Amino acid sequence: MLEVYYSILDGKEKSRYIKNKELFNSLIDEVEKIYENCQLCEHLCKINRYKKAGKCRVIETSIASNFFHYGEERMLIPSYTIFFSGCNFKCVYCQNWDISQRHVGFYIEPEKMAEMIDDAYAKAKNVNWVGGEPTPNLLYILRVLNKCSKNIPQIWNSNMYCSEKTMNILKYFIDVYLTDFKYGNNECAEKLSRVKNYWEIVTRNHKIAYRQGEIIIRHLILPNHVECCSKPVMDWISENVPHALVNIMDQYYPTYKANEYEEINRRITVEEYQEIIEYAKKLNINAL
Ligand code: SF4
Repeated sequence: MLEVYYSILDGKEKSRYIKNKELFNSLIDEVEKIYENCQLCEHLCKINRYKKAGKCRVIETSIASNFFHYGEERMLIPSYTIFFSGCNFKCVYCQNWDISQRHVGFYIEPEKMAEMIDDAYAKAKNVNWVGGEPTPNLLYILRVLNKCSKNIPQIWNSNMYCSEKTMNILKYFIDVYLTDFKYGNNECAEKLSRVKNYWEIVTRNHKIAYRQGEIIIRHLILPNHVECCSKPVMDWISENVPHALVNIMDQYYPTYKANEYEEINRRITVEEYQEIIEYAKKLNINAL
């Protein structure tokens, strides 16, 4: 574990992924078939993505922005970050709602994006696929990487609601899973992000990610969700993925539709933050 993480820290910026055209062509074929009956995430819309959008509302990939990001975890920066428009979650407090819940940006040809990544190679430690959410854009990502000539670590920056089919494809080219683990139960997830079976799906995918790559888990503390969400998330991490690095985040602020939900219509308190930090310490969580 943590081989790539340490290689990033040491400045040896190499992906485990070894450029293999044949493999990439077969992954592209596989995902092209999935698009006809989309099951890239656990919404399992089973619609033809070439013709219509599912719950994520993504048909053609749209890039909201791409730049060298210095705001990510210290061992990952500078990170060449590619923000997709659109998401399969509808978090009522989304801090990126202006790109995740609206169609913004534009399509960049895979060849052009590959060129930009190759150009970024000299400066960036990695390529960071985020959004919104990268999952609905898997085919685009594969087409881009198939055109890249540089070997640079790949980060999957995701809500981890991917299907098992998607997780099985990611194992061939993702080095670091930079995950959001928000909720400690299904009720909160359904109420605040409009997704079903969150706990079963996201814990399953964290276990898979832990086996097949490096993992940094982000947990955004929500006001009034310390007992129902933050503590169960910490408990689960300590029991199931004990070597994962964990970023416990205090920067929540009410935005988007948060004012319609009284319990999250404020910032977190110092006490809530301290309580989770202490709780994580007692569990020997590898907090950043
Ligand atoms: S990516 Fe998920 S939400 Fe979007 S169409 Fe496919 S299964 Fe549906």
